[in-house]
Amino acid sequence: MALSRLDNLYRQVILDHSSHPHHHGVLDEASTQIEMNNPTCGDVIQLQLVLDEDDVIQDIRFSGSGCSISTASASMMTDVVIGQPISKALELSHQFSELVLGKDVEELDALGDAAMLGGVAKFPARIKCATLGWKALEKGLIEKQATTVEQASHCDSEKE
Ligand code: ZN
Repeated sequence: MALSRLDNLYRQVILDHSSHPHHHGVLDEASTQIEMNNPTCGDVIQLQLVLDEDDVIQDIRFSGSGCSISTASASMMTDVVIGQPISKALELSHQFSELVLGKDVEELDALGDAAMLGGVAKFPARIKCATLGWKALEKGLIEKQATTVEQASHCDSEKE
């Protein structure tokens, strides 16, 4: 009984995110832009990131077309990674991947509403829907990190 009520609550939160996704839209200027798709379901996401000079995610937006799981998951992802440095965002993304694979996650609270997507583990066909936004995030951050390292080594001689 209690369990089904909990399931209903989760379903409601997931529905809220998919029908009114957070940070949905397109920015005029972004540091990084990534497009990714999930051919098994037909989900497409365009993700934009604005990173400041300390590599903190200042702003984030996503658009595209996806099923309710992919949209809800992307919306939940934007909520938890905004304001986070690249390293922390990558760690959260890793934790989320573990969660939807049915593994134990130590800091479940850090995933915010995305923690409610743990049940996706029971539906293997939907796992790629749930991880799409996060994979796009990872790709964007890893690309940004690579260019930052390049710039840093380039500027080494200018440091005091
Ligand atoms: Zn999907």
